[in-house]
Amino acid sequence: MNQEQPKIPQATAKRLPLYYRFLKNLDSSGKQRVSSAELSEAVKVDSATIRRDFSYFGALGKKGYGYNIQYLLSFFRKTLDQDEVTRVTLIGVGNLGKAFLNYNFIKNNSTKIEQAFDINPEIVGKEVGGVPIYHFDELEERLTPDVAIAILTVPASVVQPITDRLVQIGIKGILNFTPARINVPDTVRIHHIDLAVELQSLVYFLKNYPLD
Ligand code: ATP
Repeated sequence: MNQEQPKIPQATAKRLPLYYRFLKNLDSSGKQRVSSAELSEAVKVDSATIRRDFSYFGALGKKGYGYNIQYLLSFFRKTLDQDEVTRVTLIGVGNLGKAFLNYNFIKNNSTKIEQAFDINPEIVGKEVGGVPIYHFDELEERLTPDVAIAILTVPASVVQPITDRLVQIGIKGILNFTPARINVPDTVRIHHIDLAVELQSLVYFLKNYPLD
């Protein structure tokens, strides 16, 4: 987040990428304004919440006119640092890691995987999706200085020592795709995505809370 922006509540901040994506689509389809009701329908957030969120951005919708899409987009771009590319690194180029390298995130939210690391000699020295893969031993030399986020797609058994090393060289945010819980100092933020658990939870909800 850009430091010069006014502070917005965390719950609001979490909805920003959702609003941003939808407004970008509206903008590219040539629309200039949008009502909170239209937005509400599209992003499934109630319109009172949208109006409150938008008031933090200094965007006051006019009755019968709605919100100016350009104004909102320029605010979101600044706030989400969309004008700048956030550079990320990836550790572990197995099946999941390869999928991320091929996908990369640049189209969606200006996040780019700069380089990846692995220890498998069959993959080190190659490129996947245009991203170079280095040996994890070369982490300190190869990591681009402005990279502060790492995606972990290594086996769970090695994730803690890898994390310790990442923390030591100044990584501030970690997206952990392994089922392992990792310990980090308070100055590092971890987000945990366990795909197997997410899928299991979906199955559970479908079974126990059928929609019709
Ligand atoms: P996935 O779990 O992504 O489907 P996979 O089953 O192909 O991957 P895993 O055994 O989970 O393979 O390992 C993922 C990747 O992590 C592999 O490419 C492996 O070489 C790499 N890896 C294993 N140990 C380390 C380590 N200590 N440092 C860096 N990379 C490692």
